[in-house]
Amino acid sequence: MDKNFQEEFTQITRFKPPLYKQRHQFVKDLVEKYKPKKVADLGCADCSLLRMLKFCSCIEVLAGLDICANVMKEKMHTLSPLPVDYLQPSERSLTVTLHHGSVAHKDPCMLGFDLVTCIELIEHLEEPELKKFPEVVFGFMAPSIVVISTPNSEFNPLLPGVMLYRHPDHKFEWNQAQFQSWALETARCYDYSVEFTGVGHPPTGMEKAGFCTQIAVFIRKYPQTGEPLQSEKPTEAVYKTVFKAVYPSLKDEKYLQNAVISEVIFTAQIIKHRLMSKHEEYGNDPERKFKFQPSMDCFSDYLGKLVVENNMEPFVSGNEVYVPLATIFSFPKVNRLCGTFEKLCKLIAGKVTLSSDGSAVVFNIEHE
Ligand code: SAH
Repeated sequence: MDKNFQEEFTQITRFKPPLYKQRHQFVKDLVEKYKPKKVADLGCADCSLLRMLKFCSCIEVLAGLDICANVMKEKMHTLSPLPVDYLQPSERSLTVTLHHGSVAHKDPCMLGFDLVTCIELIEHLEEPELKKFPEVVFGFMAPSIVVISTPNSEFNPLLPGVMLYRHPDHKFEWNQAQFQSWALETARCYDYSVEFTGVGHPPTGMEKAGFCTQIAVFIRKYPQTGEPLQSEKPTEAVYKTVFKAVYPSLKDEKYLQNAVISEVIFTAQIIKHRLMSKHEEYGNDPERKFKFQPSMDCFSDYLGKLVVENNMEPFVSGNEVYVPLATIFSFPKVNRLCGTFEKLCKLIAGKVTLSSDGSAVVFNIEHE
């Protein structure tokens, strides 16, 4: 092949970033815009989109569905929590599940989602499956948003080596008019609005070809009416759950308690340390010996202000340092974690050494 022609050709067809990443980024942007809590990815394949979405902090429930269990299982371990997730549990809760089954069948585990994504899925469906697909997704699951992407066959002449379809498993590839008429009809039937866009821009001068990947974003027009009628729900689960991970979260009392205890001890230790360094500095001055003296950094400035304004001064008595719980509670992180002073007391009860009246954290400094 002539070199110039070849270069021109590869320029046309090589997308940067690669097209699959642009499709996933498109979904991520949609998630950031609409902030859905529950997202299901149908035809999730190797779970790469789910892996990206688990970092979107608005999402609390993430589910994947695929008819091919093996392709899902290959990398599903990458959806498990990491050690860091246990060391620093997140404030949100997150559950990730993977199901084995077909989008042609209804299963109650697919109810209640806000966003359903079908990225490069529909062109893999046989005709009878494609016929059932709208009723399952738009009629039964009925999420507030559905995003569907599929190849645009008008772009195929610009892709070298594509004879009939882009992938041997594709059952069809639609041009823009075919996709849009199917999507408009589906939207009309199930009371959704639909807008068209895509990723993979056509080269200059060939705009008529349209995007390499065509995308339809459907928005449900009617409000959620709560749970569907029992009679409409299939009672039987037909999907098989192949993976489930519940991420550690501060919404779980056990993780919250650990986080509060560490934060209380950490804060009290810093206060104690500041107090002790002043103690040493003014060691020979009986007047100032045990008083907290703010220094120049932010932490001490803040603490100094608290001490002055609220009379919540830490103090030394004999071999013990007392750091009032009220002072610790005033620190933003402790305050945000516990919400109320009562909750703080409840969470640390029996776990942190307190003064006899329970009002201060006590450290013994005999050996320090
Ligand atoms: N969504 C993925 C890749 C899609 S490839 C991505 O964004 O990268 C299409 C996937 O759909 C394949 O993994 C295939 O196994 C799955 N699939 C095909 N028919 C299906 C059906 N009836 N129900 C569910 N998944 C199906």
